Amino acid sequence: MNLRRISGLLSASFLFLFVVAFTTNAQNGYARDTAQSIDDEYTKKIAEYTTEKFFNSPLTDYLPASPNVPTPKAVLGDVAGAPGKLPYAEDVYKYMRMLEKASPRVKVFSIGTTEEGREMIAVAVASEALLAKLEENRARLNKLADPRTINMDEAEADRLVDQSFPIYYITGTIHSPETGAPTALMELAYRLAVDESPYIKSIRDGMVTLITPVVEVDGRNRMVDVYNWHLAHPGQNWPPMVYWGHYVAHDNNRDAMGMSLKLTRNIMNVYLSWKPQVLHDLHESVAYLYDNTIGDGPYNAWVDPILTDEWQLIGWKNVSEMTKFGMPGVFAHGTFDTWSPGYLMFIAATHNGISRLYETFGNGGADTLTRTLSPDEYQRTWYKQNPPLPRAKWSQRNNNNYEQTALLISLDYFNKNSKLFLKNFYLKSKRSIEKPKNEGPAAYVFPSDDPRPGSQARLLRLLQAQGCEVHRANASFTVAMKKKAAPRGANRPGATPSPAASPARTPETEARTFPAGSYIVRMDQPYSRIADALLDYQYWSPRDPQQSIYDDTGWTFGELGNVQVERVTDTKVLAAAMDRVSGEVRSPGGITGTGSIFLVNSNAETNLITLRYQLKQAVFESAEDAFEVAGRKFNRGSFIIRNGSLDQVNKATSELGIPALAVAQAPTVKTHPMKAARVAIMHTWLSTQDEGWWRLAFDQMQVPFDYISTQDVAKESELNKKYDVIIFGPGNGNANAVIQGRPMYGNPIPWKKTELTPNLGGFASTDDMRPGLGYTGLMNLQNFVKNGGVLIGADDSASFAVATGFAPGVSVQTSTRLRAIGDVLKTRMVDSASPIAYGYGDTLSVYCFNGPIFNISNVVGGGGGGRRGGSGQRTTGRGTADDPDVVQGRPPAEVPEQPPSSEVWEAAPIMEEQRRNLVGLIPPNLRPRVVLRWGNANELLVSGLLDGGDEIAQHAAVIDSPLERGHVILFSMNPFWRGQTAGSYALVFNTILNFDNLNAGRKLDEK
Ligand SMILES: [Zn+2]
Repeated sequence: MNLRRISGLLSASFLFLFVVAFTTNAQNGYARDTAQSIDDEYTKKIAEYTTEKFFNSPLTDYLPASPNVPTPKAVLGDVAGAPGKLPYAEDVYKYMRMLEKASPRVKVFSIGTTEEGREMIAVAVASEALLAKLEENRARLNKLADPRTINMDEAEADRLVDQSFPIYYITGTIHSPETGAPTALMELAYRLAVDESPYIKSIRDGMVTLITPVVEVDGRNRMVDVYNWHLAHPGQNWPPMVYWGHYVAHDNNRDAMGMSLKLTRNIMNVYLSWKPQVLHDLHESVAYLYDNTIGDGPYNAWVDPILTDEWQLIGWKNVSEMTKFGMPGVFAHGTFDTWSPGYLMFIAATHNGISRLYETFGNGGADTLTRTLSPDEYQRTWYKQNPPLPRAKWSQRNNNNYEQTALLISLDYFNKNSKLFLKNFYLKSKRSIEKPKNEGPAAYVFPSDDPRPGSQARLLRLLQAQGCEVHRANASFTVAMKKKAAPRGANRPGATPSPAASPARTPETEARTFPAGSYIVRMDQPYSRIADALLDYQYWSPRDPQQSIYDDTGWTFGELGNVQVERVTDTKVLAAAMDRVSGEVRSPGGITGTGSIFLVNSNAETNLITLRYQLKQAVFESAEDAFEVAGRKFNRGSFIIRNGSLDQVNKATSELGIPALAVAQAPTVKTHPMKAARVAIMHTWLSTQDEGWWRLAFDQMQVPFDYISTQDVAKESELNKKYDVIIFGPGNGNANAVIQGRPMYGNPIPWKKTELTPNLGGFASTDDMRPGLGYTGLMNLQNFVKNGGVLIGADDSASFAVATGFAPGVSVQTSTRLRAIGDVLKTRMVDSASPIAYGYGDTLSVYCFNGPIFNISNVVGGGGGGRRGGSGQRTTGRGTADDPDVVQGRPPAEVPEQPPSSEVWEAAPIMEEQRRNLVGLIPPNLRPRVVLRWGNANELLVSGLLDGGDEIAQHAAVIDSPLERGHVILFSMNPFWRGQTAGSYALVFNTILNFDNLNAGRKLDEK
């Protein structure tokens, strides 16, 4: 402020206030070091860009000066949070490396690259003394993280705690439109390195602050491009961020379980190698600072209660101190449940650390804007006593002030209590090891006779990537297992759970012997919690007080992976003879036998399709029936490979972990050819996130595809010349939006690589994002199918196909009660002869989020068909309940036979009366063929929240709907979701492998 412009009276009172504030701050330890000069120019700019004094704090309203360490201005040309300044990740790194060069208190570590090859970094800031002792400290933290190494010796633990300094890991900008964190973290690093105030100095001398300023680097750079485009085109609509990372957008913060993205793997590696006590993510979506780790219930059921107490401790300290500063809008609680462990911060929560997360307030760029909030945002509630203002001018600098102030308060509190948090870190690790003898289970067992060893190995590798140890039994072993219960709700109607949990009873047990070679994930290991959280079942009561559910409610990885996983509570399992698996778990593959024909069993493994494309020149046939050769059983759909070189086949099957049997003579079984289909994945310019998970899986399985947009399809009238299969992934909204695209008001909106926007375009590019598929595109797509192509749709893209006439005979029923909120649900096999079903068993658990409820009819547009068996009750009349009524005064009439009743997933039979001149009657060979259906109401729920499940129970779940010469495959579930649903991948891969023989095994109605 400029004191000279204020009247004498005012300046006197301001001076008084200033003195009071200074004294209070000094008492609280916030005082600056008066011997250290401040950077006047920078400090003046902080004040200028902060829109109200109360949007800053004594911790960040100045910047200390340093004679040799550059401020963020050196790279930004202005201060952190300045309007119009959004640095690329490379600029942020450049600054961090300038800091490293100028200050012995900063070290920069390269921690890996993104999908698009951009670097990720972690920056450690601490005193020279601490940085010099990083390695010896790491050795101590490793021991605290694995108390087995000190034989759970409390005295030794205390000694280690005493000698150790903790690590607090902060990550910024995982969500690309949330733009403030990089500059806030640049300035925070500077402050921590340079400021001599006792408050900051004690943090620097007591602990390591580790910073990854940009988590989603690909997305950050795209966001900066978009922002720069906006600056260069004032008054115009700028491109919406349809792509953040290479595959997914907002969901990059849902990958802590499946670990499919490089950013997750890189942060996990930092976590496992540094052993930080806290992982703290920075987000921006709430005014003005919401500590949402404290959030609301239900809390995740697998984390240690010590952790949930730590959330409260650190979080409320933030609220309390910032309340004293008079900064409005700082709160904890709110409506965010902490159930799903998919967020990046949950890497810490599930690995004995502390997860933390801020939502601050961002403007989606660096413009200063007047922001108007809704009443539910600005009204005072019990947990928000000083709420944000209904309307305020808000700047990126304000956001940077809040983020830094809150972080400094947390760092200070954490540092002052570092021995407590280090000891808790040890205790949580110890309690994880003690799991078998406390809450259990003792272990999860993966039986060696699982028919899908490849899927089994894949899930075990995920656990290894999570830091878990995997063992393998070298002899068979027997344990007591809980007897399998009758199906849930067997004695009550519908899927409604019983109102009260039944009292705990000692479950009846039975002995079970697991064969040698079974894998064992012991729960007496430091990271047992993550394995337990991933492999266990989830139950969310429909009557839970939390009614605004934030994310998925179920995720059981064994079920979604189609892998057998047994939860064993009997601690005897730990005494089984076993060895720890060194290196990654791999399923055995390669050729046995001799001959030039190779047989590969079809077992719904995800990578069978990889083999097809790796051996592109070989001739593949698919067996339409099961067969046996040399005592080995082969399922329907098994591969018969000819013209493949022995070396090539052996190399491919060995690397992929696929067993192949070489034979001299092919088995006598009906087959059809399996050509390597030409595949396209079609996206809209509306939303690409959900189909991004499909692309990711296709890339992982090395299934080649063209990535095309609805606009490309609109221009291409001969799609069959290029493609055999077109996949339209879910997540695009309704049919009208897909066809119309975005409204054509205003300016064209480009998404393409230019000098101004070097990070846009690339794998998907357009001059104007607005046009959609259009009616020409719709016709092109329909002609593609009619000419023999295959179109695949799931969830809303399946509904799109139904709504636009691709699937005569299929209709979507409006749901009124169903709540399947990110669940694992059971399906049942209806037609195992369909190539889509090859390799699958009688049931399959899949991911469902209120999937469309399909009805099937033999008449175009639905309808028609007979009653489902009628009511079966006779009307009032003569005789007993079983007797026919008799009309008086005439001989009894002959009653025609009732039409056969049909199941919910079937089309009702057409009765003679309806058949007369029935124009819409679908010929038998073009009727929808149901491959899988949803389970019965009492067995439908596997994991998560299910309410009104009877609405979808038994309805068709996977449908092969012919359209002239082609097929439309409709999924009422999402087979590719967050890298967690490998068990359902093969439904789509089977479709691709057998794209021109989908009618195999089909039984036709007589008429
Ligand atoms: Zn966010």
